[in-house]
Amino acid sequence: MESARNKLTREIVEAEMLWQLNDFDPKGYECWGCGIDMAPRSWRKENKMRPNFSKYPNQSHSKDCDADAEEKIVNQGLGKKHSIKDKLENSPGLSPSRLVLIEERKHIGGQVDPNDKTAYSSVNSNGKNKEVNDDTNKKSRRPANTIRPICRAFINFPYDRNMSLNIPGISGNNYINIFKKLTNNEIRKYNEKKIFYSSLQWKKIKYNDELLIIPLTSGIWSDNRPEQTYKIYVDWSTWSKAKKTMLLNELTAAQEEAKQAKKEKKEDKAWVFFIGEQDQINFDIFHVKDQRLICSIIGDIIYPQLNT
Ligand SMILES: [Zn+2]
Repeated sequence: MESARNKLTREIVEAEMLWQLNDFDPKGYECWGCGIDMAPRSWRKENKMRPNFSKYPNQSHSKDCDADAEEKIVNQGLGKKHSIKDKLENSPGLSPSRLVLIEERKHIGGQVDPNDKTAYSSVNSNGKNKEVNDDTNKKSRRPANTIRPICRAFINFPYDRNMSLNIPGISGNNYINIFKKLTNNEIRKYNEKKIFYSSLQWKKIKYNDELLIIPLTSGIWSDNRPEQTYKIYVDWSTWSKAKKTMLLNELTAAQEEAKQAKKEKKEDKAWVFFIGEQDQINFDIFHVKDQRLICSIIGDIIYPQLNT
């Protein structure tokens, strides 16, 4: 599974977050749908595979577990064949309705100071019954705290990109008009902010203490070589080492996944999605500062003709 709930903080965390934690309790996670224990897998920093959560072999999800149901919907791939709007409208995690950036907490690794009332004011004494975010209990679309689940939905449900979506600072009200693929064969200025995306080049990603440069494939190529292609400058000078590791791991994992997909003759590519500021002088450069506004996901993005 791509996400699980931290038992102490009650927050739903994406598996990629595990790359960022230096120290966490592997027994500290549970299914957000039914509460069974979930084991973090493949989370070591040196691991080139993307982390995930899986149930222990001796346990099963409850029959009405939303998390389990959602995973099945994605794995069946029905959303890539036709609209599954009814399912998306009634499931919490599949198709986020908006992006809500919450303040980051220093103890996300699981060590919660029970006296710290500001951070988890609604965690009660046994930490079980009350949700920090009541939306998690409803059978309706939940907001996302990073763009990653939103980008997964964009890939997974191409026939339902007319579903509502709200991203602060971005014009547009659904998945179709909030996402924009960077152009091929030209470098242009974009007047509106969108969730831009492009596939990732396979070459080694360069970085130093202040800056990470992500090479994208969109842009101008000649003779199969990038002549002038878009790139993302991630100003990570203020990030912790762990945060830097997480982004770098995600990018290199996506490159590896894309190479593997090519070997298997699949259409999947490594996509980079981001919300950034286009450079005012060099239009091929976008600047990103916030880690929650960039992610890299493997997948095949299709564009069906929609009658809407
Ligand atoms: Zn479950």
